Amino acid sequence: MVEIDEEAEKKEILNRYRQLLRISKDIREPGDDREIRKAFELALRAHRNMRRKSGEPYIYHPIAVARIAVEEIGLGTTSIVSALLHDVVEDSDIPLEHIRKEFGPKVANIIHGLTKISGVFDQSNSPQAENFRHMLLTLSDDVRVILIKLCDRLHNMRTLEHMSEKGQLKIASETLYLYAPLAHRLGLYAIKTELEDLALKYTEPEMYKQIKTKLNETREQRTRYIRSFIRPLKMELDHLGIEYEIKGRPKSIYSILSKMRKQQVEFEQVYDLFAIRIIVNSLPEVEKRDCWNVYSIVTSIYRPNPDRLRDWISNPKGNGYESLHTTVMGPRGKWVEIQIRSTRMDEIAEKGYAAHWRYKEGNSNESGFDLWLERVREILENSAENAVDFLNDFKLNLYSKEVFVFTPKGDLKKLPMNSTTLDFAFDIHTEVGSKCIGAKVNNKLVPISHVLQNGDQVEIITSAKQKPNKGWLDFVITGKAKGRIKHALKEEKRKLVEEGKEVVIRKLRQAKVPKTTENMRIICLHFDQPSEADFYVFVARNGFPKTDQPLRNVIQGYKDRAEQGRHRNDTAPEHITEKKSGELIIGESADLNMDYEFAKCCSPIPGDEVVGFITVGEGIKIHRTNCKNAIRLMSNYGYRIIKARWAGYPIHEIRFNAGIQITGIDSPGLVSKVTDVISKDLQINMQSISFSAKDGAFVGNLTLEVDSTGHLDELIEKIKKIDQYIQVKRVDVN
Ligand code: MN
Repeated sequence: MVEIDEEAEKKEILNRYRQLLRISKDIREPGDDREIRKAFELALRAHRNMRRKSGEPYIYHPIAVARIAVEEIGLGTTSIVSALLHDVVEDSDIPLEHIRKEFGPKVANIIHGLTKISGVFDQSNSPQAENFRHMLLTLSDDVRVILIKLCDRLHNMRTLEHMSEKGQLKIASETLYLYAPLAHRLGLYAIKTELEDLALKYTEPEMYKQIKTKLNETREQRTRYIRSFIRPLKMELDHLGIEYEIKGRPKSIYSILSKMRKQQVEFEQVYDLFAIRIIVNSLPEVEKRDCWNVYSIVTSIYRPNPDRLRDWISNPKGNGYESLHTTVMGPRGKWVEIQIRSTRMDEIAEKGYAAHWRYKEGNSNESGFDLWLERVREILENSAENAVDFLNDFKLNLYSKEVFVFTPKGDLKKLPMNSTTLDFAFDIHTEVGSKCIGAKVNNKLVPISHVLQNGDQVEIITSAKQKPNKGWLDFVITGKAKGRIKHALKEEKRKLVEEGKEVVIRKLRQAKVPKTTENMRIICLHFDQPSEADFYVFVARNGFPKTDQPLRNVIQGYKDRAEQGRHRNDTAPEHITEKKSGELIIGESADLNMDYEFAKCCSPIPGDEVVGFITVGEGIKIHRTNCKNAIRLMSNYGYRIIKARWAGYPIHEIRFNAGIQITGIDSPGLVSKVTDVISKDLQINMQSISFSAKDGAFVGNLTLEVDSTGHLDELIEKIKKIDQYIQVKRVDVN
């Protein structure tokens, strides 16, 4: 048993408290130290007989958490007070009301939030998604709750060695699974990296030790390399009188291990074990220019890999990260990653926006901090209902990349990777999305399904006649576009049903036919409509179909036949049978008096085997003989068939719509090759086009204007030649 020297301990507690005051000196306002003193004394009283697992006085922990909040995130007095008190309500009989009375509602709310997290989260056996989500959602009205929770977790991780092995594993995995991604999402890179490395130490102690040892063994060699690498850089930078700092730092153990796993390589083969960071000390007004200056110096000395330039300065990441990244070829053929940023950017990158806000207090940068908090709140609130989805979203959002594109006026839009022109259109405005028929991307005409690339300038082309269709859902990826399209489709159908129903009701009243279920069933049957709703939609689009005898009689006819037990419709109207003998020659002037149309279901084109079908009220419909509908009609109503053939083709200048479906193995640029062949080589108009890809295979549905089957066959052959894996078949126009 070790004797505890109470006097020495008291001294040490005061010591640590004074350190806290010292480091927060710059951020405190008059009167703040009284609040902090009050909080410290209350915490001291609440935890007076408590010790941590390490045997140390418990009060060390809240002091340490407050220190992290100041030093590593840059939070202020409210956070210091809250951090000092964060375990008070939970671990003592001091009620929240007391804290509210003493420190006001703001601090009380934060403490309440923090206490709730422990309640729902820390004491459960596993990192339950629901609890975590709950914590984020209910508490996000003050983001400091989450930030202090991260400080708390970081200190617990730093002192994890005193826990039982089982406790270590639980806390370490929670940290990897939830807290490190959260820190990353909030732009707290330094904390994220430390959390990851600390967690790894407990979840995979062997790997952790191995990599750590190897990093130590190679340190000297690495330092020498870094020194020789930066020597010419320094000379040049000094020469130009730029104020800067260069750091050459090994990457974190966690990120090295991830790389080894992802690339299936050994430690020795991970080429970028370290990154060089050049931090320019310049004023905000000129920092951007200075960074690019440094970039040009670096790349005039070392050859850059053009694919690895990342400009997060012009377009900061969603979490506020700003930096210029490039990879250059260093001595002895080694690729070296270089990060270029200003002091301000470095602060933000390491400590998040809060630090920056502190750093520049008094300037107009407070709005930046508010923006950041706003973004945090957005991240937390914009999540799916279900907790598992939420976590997936959370992780997905974290790793998914963004593309930056421009409007014609040069405004920047940030969209998720793989967004299409249509996503962009909906991002601008629902109306623009709904009327979008295509776009010009960098002045080149592209379809609405075109996938946008970084830096594209996009001009949306709209048409008053355009409206959303179901096929659009195959290629939009943003939630916004999906939601709006679905809504529009539902809305349209509802409207059409409404409109059609009104017409039908009026028509039935005129015809003196009561609107009974039975009558509606007969009407649907008679007009070949699968359901009442479909019939209403049909009527809304085409008007009430004509009948050659009063509707009453038509219905009565069905009823009579049903009564007589006759199931065959062999009582066709007189004049239709008369036409039966004739042959319809399509495209010949002689048949002009014959009223015919091409069936929409199979869209025949010249050269197809066709058949005419006499409809009730809509003249003659030309179907392809292999059309499913035609086959059904022919077998049921044989007497209404009329022979038909083409007079010759192509017919004058008339173009017909034909559908084709293209399937194949997805490869970059393939879709644009296909559309190029169609629109450029063959000068064929595309009425509609949609491509979707899944698991490396793609399916494209296109409606094209052709003049004959010969024309279409020629086109299909050409498309097949683009790529050996492409398959093309004709399909019905949809
Ligand atoms: Mn704690």
